[in-house]
Amino acid sequence: MSEANGAATPQSLIREELLALSAYHVPASAGMVKLDAMENPYPLPDDLAAGLGALLGAAPVNRYPEADARALKASIRRALDVPAGCDILLGNGSDEIIQLLAMAVAKPGAVLASVEPTFVMFRMIATFTGLRYASCPLRADFSLDMDAVLHMLEAERPAVMFLATPNNPTGNTFARADIERIAAAAPGLLVVDEAYYAFGDSSHLELAARLPNVLVMRTFSKLGMAGLRLGFLVGAPAWLEQLDKLRLPYNVNVLTQIAATRLLDSYPALAAQAAAIRVDRSVLAEALRAVPGAEVFPSEANFLLFRIPRAAALFDALVARGVLVKNVSRAHALLADCLRVTVGTPAENRRFIAALHEAVADLG
Ligand code: PMP
Repeated sequence: MSEANGAATPQSLIREELLALSAYHVPASAGMVKLDAMENPYPLPDDLAAGLGALLGAAPVNRYPEADARALKASIRRALDVPAGCDILLGNGSDEIIQLLAMAVAKPGAVLASVEPTFVMFRMIATFTGLRYASCPLRADFSLDMDAVLHMLEAERPAVMFLATPNNPTGNTFARADIERIAAAAPGLLVVDEAYYAFGDSSHLELAARLPNVLVMRTFSKLGMAGLRLGFLVGAPAWLEQLDKLRLPYNVNVLTQIAATRLLDSYPALAAQAAAIRVDRSVLAEALRAVPGAEVFPSEANFLLFRIPRAAALFDALVARGVLVKNVSRAHALLADCLRVTVGTPAENRRFIAALHEAVADLG
């Protein structure tokens, strides 16, 4: 309700479902071993960094960015084998693309769906945009429960369903045949979110070319460019043309366009970092399995999910030792006593493992 003098208050003006939300929490991490956000732990290779400095110094920051980022899209197409016949839509991070998709389908009563547990922004953005969020649980091993998914599609008729593979925070992938079955059964769009594609062996880009209701979303955040904020969507021009109307004209800034274009021309260097992270992931998984009580889940992403008794207390004990991971133990019933750790540099991974051993021993 508004005050007597008619002045608006946040409580009187802001939508109730937003007042009820908690903001996406980004914890303080200065000085810590930061293994909570799936960043690439490596700085740019020296030669790339030097070349980039000169390019960015000459960037026309007095001008608005090129609105359709043609050079950047051409680099993406080249580096990532975007199927012929598909278009590319760029976002300020893939978060923005989720938001564009949600805004586009937000008719009264429309539903955005996913599986749980998954990336929290699907649910949050549904709320931001006035969509109802529907979900069905994964199995205890985080695989798809196809009966539950097909039932949800039938009962909820979602306008858009998001499926992240590899999934966050679980790290596993979903079977291609199941994804195709979901696409066939979906009454609306199926968006395959491949944020972690660089750390696994599967790509679903071809589905965007072959299946009329599938779009594939990726981000460069996990490939060493989280700070640039750049994600993209691949799909049929008929879909992307409509979504493009909602995109704010200058959503990808000049510096990001120039830097990403340059970095993508050195894609093999970025892919080599991802390959090194994959190797380090198996070393880390093995070390984690040796920690008393830890159960490590299979991962094709740049992080590992593990279950360990008294996870919440261990999370605090790790923070006290200067190591920040993500406590997902309260995010979903299936994640009870689970923590998620990003694969860092080998030295960071060793510090994490040492801190975890100490914390487990201290908690007795
Ligand atoms: N999708 C998934 C599955 C993610 O885990 C993330 C980031 N954590 C994103 C999308 C968003 O990435 P960005 O906005 O950095 O591109």
